[in-house]
Amino acid sequence: MAHTTEKKGTFLEEVIEATPDGERLVHCLQCGSCGGSCPSGAEMQYTPRTLIAMINAGDRDAVLAANTMWACVSCYLCTTRCPQNIPITDIIYTLKRMSIAEGRYSKTDAPAMAKTFTDFVEMFGRSYEIGLAIGYHAFKRWKPIELMKMGPMGIKMLLRRRMAFIPSKIRQIDQLRAIIKKAKELSAKEQQEAKALRQPTHGH
Ligand code: SF4
Ligand code: SF4
Repeated sequence: MAHTTEKKGTFLEEVIEATPDGERLVHCLQCGSCGGSCPSGAEMQYTPRTLIAMINAGDRDAVLAANTMWACVSCYLCTTRCPQNIPITDIIYTLKRMSIAEGRYSKTDAPAMAKTFTDFVEMFGRSYEIGLAIGYHAFKRWKPIELMKMGPMGIKMLLRRRMAFIPSKIRQIDQLRAIIKKAKELSAKEQQEAKALRQPTHGH
């Protein structure tokens, strides 16, 4: 399915319009302070600095298909350290909304990670970190080496009781499942409406 959607104006203008103080984007110095402070930089296809350069260059398709927005943990370090006061984290939120609205995220790791996480929440009512790590790295990404790298950190967390070895279910799980079911119904409806809006209109 071709994802390219015809838009008025440039990609830069789109991002600026959808982001509070987004017009500051054009003042980027490419100094790299944002990418250098980002705790998730190693997981990102493009660091915030590169992403800003790509927006300015109008590289819409590559930006919206990037995994950067999904690796971002919203810590705002980049934003607070930017010498040009560019609202980088808010720009990342804007890109994430656009990526979702146009279905571009499907080629990133985001759906696999989200599905593994939500499966455990539906089963137990809470996240189960060991299951998440095994399910995501070993079975969804087929990268057991990544799982092995996490071993020492996992053992420390277990010893400090920051993580449970065996998952436990919350009380009143049925109520949570009913809420999740309703949320899924609403989400499916929103996606249908967004899809209908993206359909080209003919015969005018
Ligand atoms: S810190 Fe600000 S000015 Fe520097 S590269 Fe990042 S966005 Fe650009
Ligand atoms: S807000 Fe996101 S992009 Fe910015 S430093 Fe934190 S994780 Fe990185």
